[in-house]
Amino acid sequence: MKSHVQVAVIGGGVVGCSVLYHLTKLGWKDVCLIERSELTAGSTWHAAGGMHTLNSDPNVAKLQNYTINLYKELEEISGQSCGIHMSGGIMVADTPERLEFLKTAHAKGKYLGLESEFIDMDEVKKLHPLLDTSHFCGALYDPLEGHVDPSGVTHAYAKAARIGGAKIYRQCPVVDLKQTPEGHWEVITEKGTIHAEHVVNCGGLWAREVGRMVGLELPILAMEHQYLITDTMPEVQALDKELPHCIDFAGEMYMRQEGQGLVMGTYEQACVAWSERQTPWHFGHELLNPDLERISPSLEVAFAHVPALAEAGIKQTINGPFTFAPDGNPLVGPVRGLKNFWVACGVMAGFSQGGGVGLALSNWMVHGDPGSDIFAMDVARYGDWATMAYTNTKVKENYQRRFRISYPNEELPAARPHRTTAIYDLLKEKNAVFGTSYGLEHALWFAAEGQTPEEIPSFRRSNAFEQVAAECQAVRNQVGLLEISNFAKYRISGSGAAAWLDNLLANTLPATGKMVLAPMLNRAGKLLGDFTVARLKDNEFYIFGSGTAEEFHMRWFEQRLEGVTDVQLECLRSRLTGLSIAGPHAKALLTKLTHHDLDDFSFMSFASIDVGHAPALVGRISFTGEQGYEIWVEPDYLRAVYMSLTEAGAEFGLRLFGARALDSLRHEKGFGGWTREFTPDYQPYQAGMGRFVKPAKGEFIGQAAAAENAGQQADKVLIQLAIDDLGGDADAVADEPVFFNDQVVGWVTSGAYGHCVQMSLAQAYVDSSVATEDNFTVEILGNMHPASRLAEPPYDPSGSKMRGA
Ligand SMILES: Cc1cc2nc3c(=O)[nH]c(=O)nc-3n(C[C@H](O)[C@H](O)[C@H](O)COP(=O)(O)OP(=O)(O)OC[C@H]3O[C@@H](n4cnc5c(N)ncnc54)[C@H](O)[C@@H]3O)c2cc1C
Repeated sequence: MKSHVQVAVIGGGVVGCSVLYHLTKLGWKDVCLIERSELTAGSTWHAAGGMHTLNSDPNVAKLQNYTINLYKELEEISGQSCGIHMSGGIMVADTPERLEFLKTAHAKGKYLGLESEFIDMDEVKKLHPLLDTSHFCGALYDPLEGHVDPSGVTHAYAKAARIGGAKIYRQCPVVDLKQTPEGHWEVITEKGTIHAEHVVNCGGLWAREVGRMVGLELPILAMEHQYLITDTMPEVQALDKELPHCIDFAGEMYMRQEGQGLVMGTYEQACVAWSERQTPWHFGHELLNPDLERISPSLEVAFAHVPALAEAGIKQTINGPFTFAPDGNPLVGPVRGLKNFWVACGVMAGFSQGGGVGLALSNWMVHGDPGSDIFAMDVARYGDWATMAYTNTKVKENYQRRFRISYPNEELPAARPHRTTAIYDLLKEKNAVFGTSYGLEHALWFAAEGQTPEEIPSFRRSNAFEQVAAECQAVRNQVGLLEISNFAKYRISGSGAAAWLDNLLANTLPATGKMVLAPMLNRAGKLLGDFTVARLKDNEFYIFGSGTAEEFHMRWFEQRLEGVTDVQLECLRSRLTGLSIAGPHAKALLTKLTHHDLDDFSFMSFASIDVGHAPALVGRISFTGEQGYEIWVEPDYLRAVYMSLTEAGAEFGLRLFGARALDSLRHEKGFGGWTREFTPDYQPYQAGMGRFVKPAKGEFIGQAAAAENAGQQADKVLIQLAIDDLGGDADAVADEPVFFNDQVVGWVTSGAYGHCVQMSLAQAYVDSSVATEDNFTVEILGNMHPASRLAEPPYDPSGSKMRGA
């Protein structure tokens, strides 16, 4: 065994072997994999090996596409068969809602270059003669589906990695990990210690336990999962070609051919977690006891939809555990606060995702960046609030919903409320419908008096529509109040604060008492954040950003603070809470509650002033496009300030508004948002943020790339569209393809109905070659909607309302 390596990968399941292979592929040869038992000894060996590209996040779908296309290459390099069966796959819908869900998946696939197509029931019958098509109203066919041999794939990765120079140590449990003073790792195994510069936790079923060796509690949980393998079936024997993979949403089940029979697996409602607290180390190549009773509701549907199945004998029932994160996507990336410690775990679809996970993580380790926006599977999308209890509740919910429809306006109920602020009950009294971001409850909209505060999940305009319209009108015409405690807030102070921030951000820093909008870039000049930066004192700054990206940003900030002694960074998550007031009467309202002279408090000012009886930090800014103020107070004051504002606001027609209205208002102003228009896939010049980047200001991270981008035409640019709703009730939401002359030229990043301008609005990235064209088409729920490019935002394009005195 080597005594020193550049990387030690812990775990020889499909994910660890993929990471190992990809590291060698990218040129890191001094790498090893350490496996407790034999390769595949975790959840990998008993997997059904099914693979597909379906994922709600387009970039994860892209990585699934990469994984499936990799197997041929892997066979060629390794000489090891992956047992590839590219049988194609069909997803069958039994209700119009499920059909709409498939339409959104299909539309997304168009700009991702995936080749799915809707087929009629005759074609379904031809492809899958065993299905009773009378139960279905539509079907989506995807040629890029099928199944592989789990063991073959894992060994193919391992062999290809060995050919690339990697070493694999089997029967070698890692029992502890100790960090060295220079930030490397002593990997202590039962066979000796290896000094590794980097460690990757690919421990699969034991990833939690490996995490605990370094004080990390990863939000993952294993669930039992069952599938049946039938005896030989005459109906299958009679076929002249392999049946396609099939997902039948009605029965929460998947199905494929295995030999001359079928494999049928379910994501049952009566799901069972496995080893909720601690995975036993002695668990080996074992199966769990089958429990057919649990999956009997799915079996009933299966027998109706595939009558031949009802007659088939069961050869074997597999019940095995595999791990999930609370939202079902993998946990990948460097872990905040643990230098050179990486994870690639919680991968619930190793044969669809393993290759993409290996590629992204290896890119990150070798090049310092995963290569695209993979926030949907970044370990940093969770923070310490995702406790074991939270995780266990959410994972069960996710498991039960695996084949359920995900609606864009849906907020899942499990483990809520989790984090709340001091005015949660007051907002609830006002009939707030809550959403959650980073575990924190925040108001989405307010139901009318007497109306049940509940939003009905839909791909179309929901029952929130009228109320949100009224909230928007109140902001535009009177004054609105929105809680903004769900923003992320950071304080940066110390004698080195200005210099450190100047290097971190692409804009020049504000003068004392002022704010600026400042993008943060990576070295390639891509967006890592879009912040409001406020300077309270010469050496005291506040940064406000996306709440969901708090851990993501803290990880980046802290990495850049290594060895810096004259800067203090504080994450103010629950220590600073906020309320925003916006609208033509916002100034008059605040004037009633403060002694500060607001005439002297122009747009983008920031100061410590009193509001009601509370000390507050106030910024003259609003994401609504109206004159507005963001008021930040310590949590103890939130309730009192809220009461003062609502009482004093009555005479101005103050109305509470929520995130739905904010979304509509920001679209009317053409403002982009983090995770949608602004992500690490884009650089600021293509995202319309070029004016906030100052390549000439002096050195900062990403400066060279920014200077280059400033003078170049990007391949895609962000535009704003007004979409003809065709008299219907569907707006673009996100990920709809955009066409020009019948060719796909881009995709919608987000959309909303603009209630005050009465337009269905969207923002979209399109090919720069057509970005000045006027007429496009957007596919929404299978319908082609004409869309015209807006040369300027439809509401207050000059910004006079927002800036006004
Ligand atoms: C019944 C069933 C059916 C499935 N069907 C499919 C399917 O059709 N398609 C699909 O894509 N996925 C399927 N899966 C999921 C799939 O199995 C997982 O996504 C995949 O196996 C995850 O691989 P992994 O490498 O992350 O974890 P594991 O396979 O659990 O690998 C982790 C490895 O790490 C090793 N290890 C852990 N701790 C240590 C330590 N301290 N020292 C050394 N080594 C250590 C373990 O021994 C193990 O080999 C199924 C799973 C089950 C249970």
